[in-house]
Amino acid sequence: MNPHVVSELVLGLLGLCVGSFLNVVIYRLPAGLALTRPARSFCPRCRTPIAWYDNLPVLSWLLLRGRCRRCRGSISVQYPLIEALCGLAFVLVYHLLFVIGARGGGGPAHLPCDAPLLLAWLTLVAALLACAAMDIASYTVDVRVTLVVVAAGLFCHAVWPRTPILLPVAATAAGAGLLAAGVVSLVVLVWALRRPEEEAPLPESAPPPPAAESNGTRVGGLLGTLAALGLAAWAVACAVDPPRTIVHFDPVAGGGLVLLFLATVVAGSQRRAADEEIRQAIEDEQPAARRTALRELLALVPAIAVAGTVWLTILRLPPAAAAWHDLVHWTPGHGLAPMAGLTYAVCGALTGAAAGWVLRIVFTLVFGREAFGTGDIYILAAAGAAGGWDIALLGLLLSVGVALAGWLLSLVGKSSVMIPFGPWLAVGVLMALWLRHPAGDVFARYGETLRVAWQEQPQLIAVAGGLMLVASAGAVALARLVRRFVAR
Ligand SMILES: [Zn+2]
Repeated sequence: MNPHVVSELVLGLLGLCVGSFLNVVIYRLPAGLALTRPARSFCPRCRTPIAWYDNLPVLSWLLLRGRCRRCRGSISVQYPLIEALCGLAFVLVYHLLFVIGARGGGGPAHLPCDAPLLLAWLTLVAALLACAAMDIASYTVDVRVTLVVVAAGLFCHAVWPRTPILLPVAATAAGAGLLAAGVVSLVVLVWALRRPEEEAPLPESAPPPPAAESNGTRVGGLLGTLAALGLAAWAVACAVDPPRTIVHFDPVAGGGLVLLFLATVVAGSQRRAADEEIRQAIEDEQPAARRTALRELLALVPAIAVAGTVWLTILRLPPAAAAWHDLVHWTPGHGLAPMAGLTYAVCGALTGAAAGWVLRIVFTLVFGREAFGTGDIYILAAAGAAGGWDIALLGLLLSVGVALAGWLLSLVGKSSVMIPFGPWLAVGVLMALWLRHPAGDVFARYGETLRVAWQEQPQLIAVAGGLMLVASAGAVALARLVRRFVAR
């Protein structure tokens, strides 16, 4: 049998089981419950522990027709949907990496050489799914979930024996600067997370179960579940006869992304308990939003200063450059370069986080209200650590377009105005994993055109840049006018 088929079947089943675990994460973490206690899943209504044969991903929900065996209370369609989507996501990741070859550096990946990359991408997509679902349900992203991905990205790239892909990014002065900034950021992060937070005491009892769903939502969720399983099966069927050449357009991956997009639109347009809370929180924080943004900018100064110093030192001092070269090329054999891999992942994480911070600070300073949550910044850092710096930037770019499309679509049937950005970011990053190569080609062509234009007619570029700045300022002014008008 074709080895791809076996691998995709195994990964699909693994994805279903991981999805089952994600449901636990999505339900327990925002509620402040421990993941491991109680160890067994329980019915949120009657508290009866659930037997293993009633806890099989998707299958048990279908057999029990979405009801608890003991109390007959309805069980949310979210459970099979998340499980099926995770199964599909795992199959797609394998399909992208090993069948159609979306890995950096070109060509399909191979086992066991690329197993670390597979592990990093699987961790990333599972975490994106959990973050998107948590963000939709409660407008919060649990930082711990994203930090798990960052740790996985660091580890997996350190043991990934593909130095020709890692070194062009890592063995540069910028790589050294970002590695130093990463160390400083880690210290700041540990210090910030260890500060005692004035949080509400953890609830004694479990939170209330998800609100009862309408029949339409249940049918929609069920259709989504079946569609995800169908797409995963289709991916496996495609792997029986994989394409001879690397194709960029893949109907299975495209269908999976459309499904994720629709699931986000539908889930996002449900009225949720947290809707009013988050609106109030943003209104309350509005007077201080600009001051908060400035304070955050100050907190970033040490990392930026250290990165700049290290970068300049390596550029200007040949002994420092030689020392960095030796460090980043250090190998324990077997084609490994742990320092290069570590630096590559740190570069990705910091590029993603920096892009998010810039967007957050600029938007907050311009609009005077929180525009881009810290949770979104952590998601971008996770995407960069696991996928590389280009995935983080491309994911952010694509997510803005996806969010706009989703926002327009959800206006049709939406009762609440708030939309968390996290789910769109998740869809954007997944699209980036798929579109990395074609997008990279397009950007390379654009970059080359710009470079030539800059050499031939620099005044043209300057005028175009000035026009873009003026147009952006005009768009911002127009947006503020419209908002003032709507508020009245
Ligand atoms: Zn029950």
